[in-house]
Amino acid sequence: MAEIAFITSRRARGFREHVPEMADAARYLDAAVSAHLSGRQVLAEELIRAADMPILREWLDSIWGKNSPYVQPRLDSSSPNLVAPEGKTKARMPTKQDLSRLIARDGFHCRICGMPLVRAEVRKHLHAFYPEALPWGSTNSKQHAAFQVFWYQYDHLIPHARGGNSDIGNMIAACAACNYGRMQYTLDEVGLSLQDSPQSVGAWDGLERVLAVKDN
Ligand SMILES: [Zn+2]
Repeated sequence: MAEIAFITSRRARGFREHVPEMADAARYLDAAVSAHLSGRQVLAEELIRAADMPILREWLDSIWGKNSPYVQPRLDSSSPNLVAPEGKTKARMPTKQDLSRLIARDGFHCRICGMPLVRAEVRKHLHAFYPEALPWGSTNSKQHAAFQVFWYQYDHLIPHARGGNSDIGNMIAACAACNYGRMQYTLDEVGLSLQDSPQSVGAWDGLERVLAVKDN
């Protein structure tokens, strides 16, 4: 299996230090896509299952669950206040064109913690081939743990609830833990900071190459 370099900083950049199994899961999924694209679907399925590790779900639950010990916001009086619904910008999501620019700028790693990311489009594509190995039910426990942890989020720097808009200058690529864990707080308020863009290192392509092949 080819070695892929991932960001495995020992210093926690996000809410909580990454666990080594994340790099393993990313390698399994990368190999699963290679197997899938070369027609080895049994192997691909096995690798997708191997990436669905309980430790990843536990890690994520510890951050986005209620009253997480890892999320300790400190309100900052200089940050924008919560705004009433009429004060929020209407477009909750950036345009398709802006999303392409964001992806080109940020690549496939979380701008906050460096987590490898996979877009929902890629997950859906693979789910269609491997619905049992890659479950995506309506509750967290029925969703594949690695695809949850690596879920590509379009995150607002100044949160939408604080009046932040969806212009590309206010949007970053983030992982589910950094996005949902932060809720309506600014990065400063939860002790996070933005890393330089792009953080992408090594060969991680967000598994995007699976979309480039038609009818595979
Ligand atoms: Zn993150």
